[in-house]
Amino acid sequence: MNATTAEKNKDLPPPHEGVLELADNLWWTWHEEAHALFASLDPDLWAACGMNASRLLASIPEDQLQEKLKAPDFQDRYHAVMTAYRAEMGKQATTWYEGRRTDGEIAYFCMEYGLATWLPFYAGGLGVLAGDHLKACSDLGVPLIGVGLLYKEGAGVQRISADGDQATEFLEIDVDKLPLERLENEDGSPLLVSLPLGDRSIEVQIWKLQVGRVPLYLLDSDVDSNMPDDRAITARLYPSEAGTRIKQEIVLGIGGVRALRLLGHEPAVWHMNEGHSVMLVLANALDHLERGSTLDAALERVRSNTVFTTHTPVPAGHEKFSLDLIRSLLVPYRAEAPELVEQLIDEACESGESFGMARLAMRMSNRRNAVSELHGKVARGMWAHLWPDRPIEQVPIGHITNGVHLQTWLAPEFVRIFDEKFGLGWINAADDPETWQAIRQIADATIWGTHLKLKERMLRFLASRAIDGEGVNRLSLDPRALTIGFARRFVTYKRADLVFKDAERIAALMADPNRPVQIVMTGKAHPADQAGQALLKEVYLRTGMPEFAGRFVFVPDYNMDVARYLVQGVDVWLNTPRVPNEASGTSGQKAAMNGVLNFSILDGWWAEAYTPEIGWSFGDPDPIDDEETQDDLDARDLLDTLENEILPYYYDGSPQPAKWIGMMKNSIQQVSPDFTARRMIKQYVEQLYRG
Ligand SMILES: *Cc1c(COP(=O)(O)O)cnc(C)c1O
Repeated sequence: MNATTAEKNKDLPPPHEGVLELADNLWWTWHEEAHALFASLDPDLWAACGMNASRLLASIPEDQLQEKLKAPDFQDRYHAVMTAYRAEMGKQATTWYEGRRTDGEIAYFCMEYGLATWLPFYAGGLGVLAGDHLKACSDLGVPLIGVGLLYKEGAGVQRISADGDQATEFLEIDVDKLPLERLENEDGSPLLVSLPLGDRSIEVQIWKLQVGRVPLYLLDSDVDSNMPDDRAITARLYPSEAGTRIKQEIVLGIGGVRALRLLGHEPAVWHMNEGHSVMLVLANALDHLERGSTLDAALERVRSNTVFTTHTPVPAGHEKFSLDLIRSLLVPYRAEAPELVEQLIDEACESGESFGMARLAMRMSNRRNAVSELHGKVARGMWAHLWPDRPIEQVPIGHITNGVHLQTWLAPEFVRIFDEKFGLGWINAADDPETWQAIRQIADATIWGTHLKLKERMLRFLASRAIDGEGVNRLSLDPRALTIGFARRFVTYKRADLVFKDAERIAALMADPNRPVQIVMTGKAHPADQAGQALLKEVYLRTGMPEFAGRFVFVPDYNMDVARYLVQGVDVWLNTPRVPNEASGTSGQKAAMNGVLNFSILDGWWAEAYTPEIGWSFGDPDPIDDEETQDDLDARDLLDTLENEILPYYYDGSPQPAKWIGMMKNSIQQVSPDFTARRMIKQYVEQLYRG
């Protein structure tokens, strides 16, 4: 270390304190050097701890830790990481957001957050998107505060029996081994928010999770003073029982507003990410009434700074609750402000019978967005009845297409190559198409070699995780075979079975010794979705059929780790929804950035991104009403495209398929700038967060 670095380092804490500080902020999860620093303390224990730094530091023997921390090589890397961390977290750091008109803080409410596999507070795409939202806001310096729930039993782990039956197992999380801080009063007792609920009041405590610069507050009803049933309100994500579910949403919406006030926040914008958090409008309107506003003025003020993002074009996905249930829980609020509660009930109810969360959110926000261009169009049609005087194209719902957090999803091997070719700092210009032009200067052999390495890594992972027909884990897949990945929630409209519709034909294609094909699938069905579970079972049972065994595997318990291996390691990413049910989809974006070619029907984000240079489309973007016939047509086109277009490109007779690699580069170059969370957050700031 030279004198100037020593000089610079003198303000840094000693390594032991420093690694504890780093572990407490999720910043390390998306900075590869920080990740590697923890891994180097004990690679085996690191894997055993599920790559959770807090757990590692709680588990590693003290003398071993001290020994490691003293090694000069470790100290050098520690100083580099810590310097970068301090520079970014410091008050003087310059960010994109700086210099823009600042209206104040943005409160972001969501039911789920997917930040890391070992933080089981997410179920799927909505949560992973919210996690990426927070990380990108941190990168850009956007003054956002996240609000969610702490689920002590998490989202459940999926187990699949040999018969293909799905079971969900809930395991209590160990809060001591997570970077969670419980907010406390000076005497060490938990800081509590009281919340009237039906005939009683409950209390919730607040946990803080630091995501780079962005704090995430998680509410938790597991407090001593609550009755046992109330303590369990926030135990699990998305419970099937409607009563628990709406109670969770009251905790999130009303509890969330009260927690922020208690902590001294006065957000300028309230962002409801999906309708689950719409109760926040009740809490905010009550505050305005308390401060002396009239009812109309209170509602107007709430509308003026509330924004709403809708995430589903499927009507069944819009949550509704029985009015009796809502009324029984809102009794104390009605006692306080009868007219307000009646008015909100009016706004939420279509024809007097059920309380629509998304409907209320539409009515009580002044800016609204869907999550892709096509979804915007669908959403305007779906909600047109709320604006009967307007033609459909003037229904006030815009769109901001989803994007993904590059540092979370791009393989570190590619990051290193791009560091070399694009110049340092390129990640901060990743939403600029210019940045990606240098991909042309990267040799085919480098791209292909990296891809094969990532594919091998995925195959090793599958060998320990995937299940084939005999219920055993074994490395049965061939690294040279074209490998298709499919990772989706199992709901019928996503049509996981479409590729198997003509089972004989796909089996023959897969078994062709000159052009073999393999399929890797993963995904969960909601425990209350019988049709989804039946679909999962049907698909799963194929892994055991002789014509598919060894070529088709299923990975139980789809989560962010599984997603990362798959979107970095397969050759082709398949998506088969019934158009236009996919609001956006983001897994295909993750795949595209890693040079994995998308093969998808033109729905969601792919309808915007697709060009024949970067992947393939199939099926009918303008479906007919007869679903069964449409499924057959789409299935046939899927296999035609696979057989006649995709396979010849992949198996071109050379060890390094030139046209394929060309498409990989095109995919990386075209998709990455447009579909990063960085682009998405800039649009949220400009279109939604600024008045
Ligand atoms: C990215 C991701 C999703 C969302 O992907 P879709 O394409 O929207 O289905 C869901 N689950 C996990 C674990 C993910 O990483």
